[in-house]
Amino acid sequence: MNEDVIAVDPIAAFSVDDMLHMRRALQLAEHARDAENEVPVGAVLVLDGDIVGLGWNRNITLHDPTAHAEIQALRAAGEKLANHRLSGATLYVTLEPCSMCAMAMIHARVGRVVYGAADPKTGAAGSVFDTLVSEKHNHRVDVGGGLLAEESATLLRQFFRARR
Ligand SMILES: [Zn+2]
Repeated sequence: MNEDVIAVDPIAAFSVDDMLHMRRALQLAEHARDAENEVPVGAVLVLDGDIVGLGWNRNITLHDPTAHAEIQALRAAGEKLANHRLSGATLYVTLEPCSMCAMAMIHARVGRVVYGAADPKTGAAGSVFDTLVSEKHNHRVDVGGGLLAEESATLLRQFFRARR
């Protein structure tokens, strides 16, 4: 992430709808924790104002290393719309996407990604890798981070603290 991006006031770049969708993603993160004891990350995919996919981490439950919240939301949307391309969709996720999810979003032609907390371990929107924001891709994604970041980070911190 370059200095220009960091300098932008995160709140100013988000709408009320963005906030509502991120709140829904946070609820899904809580669901992952409460219903399946999974790492609390949630994702909501929105196309033309409609929610077309919901996802939460299900790696343990599904015995699937690819079952991140974002992948689950992309799969749900692809199935619902009978289309592997989700052009112009916005993906809301409580944690900065990893490289796997970033590439899946690029393959799906997602138009915009809004994430909550930055991930200093695997974040691919600039924290560790630049996969999502690389100018080498043919398809560019608008990326905004930091929406409800504290809530998202607190969920994760409490989860890992409780497991220790
Ligand atoms: Zn991921």
